[in-house]
Amino acid sequence: MIEVTNLVKDYGNHHAVKGISFTVGEGQIVGLLGPNGAGKSTTMNIMTGYISSTAGKVKIGEYDMFEQPLKAKKLIGYLPEMPPIYEEMTVEEYLNFVCSLKGIRKKKDRMENIAEVEEAVRITDVKGRLIKNLSKGYKQRVGLAQALIGNPPLLILDEPTVGLDPNQIIEIRALIKKLGEKHTIILSSHILSEVNAICDYVLIIDKGLLVAEDTPENLSEHFADKNRILLSVKGEKELIEQALEESEYIASYTVTGENEGVLDVTAETSVKEDVRDALFFEFADKKLPIVKMETETLSLEEVFLKLTGKEGEEEES
Ligand code: ATP
Repeated sequence: MIEVTNLVKDYGNHHAVKGISFTVGEGQIVGLLGPNGAGKSTTMNIMTGYISSTAGKVKIGEYDMFEQPLKAKKLIGYLPEMPPIYEEMTVEEYLNFVCSLKGIRKKKDRMENIAEVEEAVRITDVKGRLIKNLSKGYKQRVGLAQALIGNPPLLILDEPTVGLDPNQIIEIRALIKKLGEKHTIILSSHILSEVNAICDYVLIIDKGLLVAEDTPENLSEHFADKNRILLSVKGEKELIEQALEESEYIASYTVTGENEGVLDVTAETSVKEDVRDALFFEFADKKLPIVKMETETLSLEEVFLKLTGKEGEEEES
């Protein structure tokens, strides 16, 4: 549905996007994750044809955004960071206006389209109200509604939950997930839990470069340190520590917890191979049962930190 190839954007001599390539398949919900200033909005603005690129290609469906912009744009519903809503209009007047912008001329088509979209984002009960009198959450729904007019197969959503309160965030996320049943979606965010909750594929960008891409699960596994093992061992602390020191498979360890005769340990293994079987028998021989053992996996938060050197942000709830 989207093919971005070697995208570059310079603002004067500032290189905001430095050669990003990725594809988004039909039906996917993809998260564009990155710290502030990483180049997310710039990338989305180019993908939607809103600004030009310095170099590179963007293909939406079968159309090249720069060669056939009208055809490519028809496939996209865009919710920019600042939704282009006119506060002095009622919801219905505004959506009617969006219909005219998108070339939906027949009154019957407009009425059907608007009713469908209002239903999808659940704003039917406020359709007669002035937009300026709506809560921020409802305004965001109106923003989503304008993106949905014309039923485009692809939705591009720039920070769709920014500035909302925790309840509104939950509602908008649920709405996006539901929209994902019928649309391909790419959304940007700097909130890791948001991307984890909504997206089935993640693109991490930092300083204008794509630094990683995969499913959240694969990213966690891929960037985990395979030589690190988390152990919970039952027995006397001194005996367990002695066994850890004597083990031929453990290079170093840190005790991370102690609870009801069980010692939790993070250990660095001395070899690259999976040593879990060997450790199990080694400790069993010493009558020190290992009650839990797993190789390390990282949270998306930790992957993000590893790749960008920055903490991800969580919502304030
Ligand atoms: P945020 O989450 O803060 O919106 P972002 O990842 O969306 O960040 P962009 O808005 O794409 O980042 O900005 C990328 C870089 O380009 C930043 O350093 C920004 O200051 C710069 N930039 C963006 N727009 C312009 C512009 N019109 N002129 C000059 N520099 C710009």
